[in-house]
Amino acid sequence: MSTQLSHPAPRPLATKLTAAHRTKLRARLQKELEEALSSQAQLRSDIAIALESRRGVGTDEAEDPEGSSLAFEQAQANAMLGQSQRHASEISAALARIDAGTYGSCSTCSRPIAVGRLDARPSTAFCIACAS
Ligand SMILES: [Zn+2]
Repeated sequence: MSTQLSHPAPRPLATKLTAAHRTKLRARLQKELEEALSSQAQLRSDIAIALESRRGVGTDEAEDPEGSSLAFEQAQANAMLGQSQRHASEISAALARIDAGTYGSCSTCSRPIAVGRLDARPSTAFCIACAS
């Protein structure tokens, strides 16, 4: 156990993540992950429906304005799905870091990530300097 009592915090700024704050961010991350996963399920079913309707439309999509708008919707749903999947894996990684006890430290430079930044984006793995 560490007994470095003679090692005071360098600054009084709220840059250190408290256990209570971390618990709060963890709850937020879990909620965000649930939301991301449920929106992915919705998008997947949208995509499946769009695929199904395109099959019904036939092969000469280029001539068919409805076919190309379906294709557009499908491409959009695919893009949103990809984005949501990336977000979900970012959140999962953040939750794993909480479990590992490394949450709140920059994955690149290991410096603490400002609490305000974590509040704004709890899934971030990088401090402002490394993210930009
Ligand atoms: Zn950094």
